Amino acid sequence: ATPAAIMVAVGKGAEKGVLFKNAEALETAHNVTMAVFDKTGTITKGKPIVTDVIGWNGAKEEAITRLAAAIEQGSAHPLAVAVKERAAGMELPTCTDFRTTVGGGIAARCENTNVRLGNLSFVQPVAMIPPNAIELGEKLASVGKTIVYLTIGRNLCGIFAIADTLKEETQEAMQKLHELNIRTVILTGDNKRAAAYIAQQAGVDEVVAELMPGHKAELIKSFQQGGEIVAMVGDGINDAPALAQADLGIAVGGGTDVAIESAQVVLVNGDIRNISTTLRLSKATIRNVK
Ligand code: ADP
Ligand code: MG
Repeated sequence: ATPAAIMVAVGKGAEKGVLFKNAEALETAHNVTMAVFDKTGTITKGKPIVTDVIGWNGAKEEAITRLAAAIEQGSAHPLAVAVKERAAGMELPTCTDFRTTVGGGIAARCENTNVRLGNLSFVQPVAMIPPNAIELGEKLASVGKTIVYLTIGRNLCGIFAIADTLKEETQEAMQKLHELNIRTVILTGDNKRAAAYIAQQAGVDEVVAELMPGHKAELIKSFQQGGEIVAMVGDGINDAPALAQADLGIAVGGGTDVAIESAQVVLVNGDIRNISTTLRLSKATIRNVK
């Protein structure tokens, strides 16, 4: 494209809330065949709330809520925010030695015990999770909730179900991409059932769940090797490697600085309908030159 055509497109993008960080991004965008999304904060509002608290082995709801909020003092993850909100106004036990595992959960020492809060693969290596607890978790996950397990030492003491809701514009954003024949995929660290439910609600073609953050970039690479030109849309710190691997990295505004730095396009107001705007602006620019 000519410098003049690029300037026009950059200007139109700015009006609509699409920030192109370089001219190359505008040239790549019209070739995109696949849009890959992070789930939390990109497809969903990213403001999850705790919907169910289930005490296990006689543990009381209030006691496990306090303990869960105490251990999440060590995390800024959206799930941690939800748990801490649930315990607002409650007095919390003291925890130390916080260790977070990306895509897994958080561990700490709380009142001389080893406590963990996170998904099954995070708690199972240290604690025995009974089959009926796993079944209950799967049932809650089948309606789109994220399930985390609270363990003290080797024992399960609580299950938390946390729900996030779709952004109002998500379904329309997907329709617009499908009109442009773009294949849509969600990549998430969340549970398979919860992810499948959200994907179905959103109208997304495919979903790959229970991924570790590093694996998102690897999967994008394999899509690229299969001939796809991939746009990756994300908001989180975890998404930086995936944004960098994609042919076009798109950061959702309001996300982290790391995501914004790793991307070539920023959706300033966080409106994912602007992904199709981005692709259309690029197509129009390239068409004008040809
Ligand atoms: P996403 O791909 O949806 O952005 P993440 O990779 O951030 O998800 O997290 C994946 C999973 O790891 C979560 O669904 C949750 O089970 C677990 N997890 C991560 N951080 C925490 C935390 N601070 N507390 C509890 N669970 C966590
Ligand atoms: Mg995320």
